[in-house]
Amino acid sequence: MTALPLVFDAPKRGLPPRHLADMSADERRAAVTELGEKPFRANQLSHHYFARLTADPALMTDIPAASRDRLAGGLLPPLLSVVRHVSCDDGTTRKTLWRAHDGTLLESVLMRYPDRTTLCVSSQAGCGMACPFCATGQGGLQRNLSTAEIVDQVRAAAAAMRDGELGSPGRLSNIVFMGMGEPLANYRRVVDAVHRICDPAPGGLGISQRSVTVSTVGLAPAIRKLADERMQVRLAVSLHTPDDELRDTLVPVNTRWSVDEVLAAARYYADTTGRRVSIEYALIRDVNDQPWRADLLARRLREHLAQLVHVNVIPLNPTPGSKWDASPKPVEREFVRRVNAGGVACTVRDTRGQEIAAACGQLAAEG
Ligand code: SAH
Repeated sequence: MTALPLVFDAPKRGLPPRHLADMSADERRAAVTELGEKPFRANQLSHHYFARLTADPALMTDIPAASRDRLAGGLLPPLLSVVRHVSCDDGTTRKTLWRAHDGTLLESVLMRYPDRTTLCVSSQAGCGMACPFCATGQGGLQRNLSTAEIVDQVRAAAAAMRDGELGSPGRLSNIVFMGMGEPLANYRRVVDAVHRICDPAPGGLGISQRSVTVSTVGLAPAIRKLADERMQVRLAVSLHTPDDELRDTLVPVNTRWSVDEVLAAARYYADTTGRRVSIEYALIRDVNDQPWRADLLARRLREHLAQLVHVNVIPLNPTPGSKWDASPKPVEREFVRRVNAGGVACTVRDTRGQEIAAACGQLAAEG
């Protein structure tokens, strides 16, 4: 296994031209006026995109053709096209490979459960955080995604649910920023995307902030900044071990912000938003699954977060070239038992899509 460098600054190339979904409602009106159209056209466009979930100008027939061409030319550049869909779990899990305008590839995963449907979105093409057990991290960072490229993954998934592409028609209810990329390394665009996703229709897609989760490797200053946005989104922190020595290798950004700094920032997030923080813990056989680590995890989480925390144990998913695998079930059960016994809520997260390389840490967007 080679140690990759940490990359915070994405290459500047490749971001698409501005799109309706990059803009707030005010900005949309200004942009429409700039194009020589009446401001109410902004509402029409927004209604098509955010409420009718269509990005195809040809379907916006209540707008005169000439205006439509001008508006589409200025505000609806094609963003993402489907390269392919792959499904498993009887069609209730579907991974989509997207191609962006510059050929960049990215993936999103739609998962239907009896009581909810969750989309796992990408915030970057690739990732610069270099975690050795994650296929995305091992592939490096291609570029940031624009706000609209993030929002368009959600719009497409909402339309797919409405149109019954995953069984009977349903509603997209939850969004997790757990696809490719480190969301807090593409901070502004991700926060703007959350607003577009959560603003009430027709100004946005109308999904509740409480149903959106932002997952991070632990960029402590950005966690605090996110808390100060005063949103209601859930924060998940990919901790994976309670000690700095091992975390420096499992999550290389730990050399920048230690476990203590990350957990202090998570506490600030919990206090500011009133929401419990999720801790992600990929359980790796003989690496981070020892009973003493479970005890230490519970102790440190209790110290920092008291009752404001929940641990999700994720059995490690296999990735190409990695020598690691998931812990045996008895070891996993004992780990979970000890964390709970230590006074911290802990459950094993249901994992989906392993056989189509759609599970946590497996997104590589290979064409
Ligand atoms: N960069 C962010 C968002 C990605 S979320 C973050 O790391 O939080 C993807 C989640 O899957 C993270 O918790 C990540 O640590 C976890 N993960 C990565 N590789 C995995 C693997 N091989 N098996 C199980 N979980 C994995």
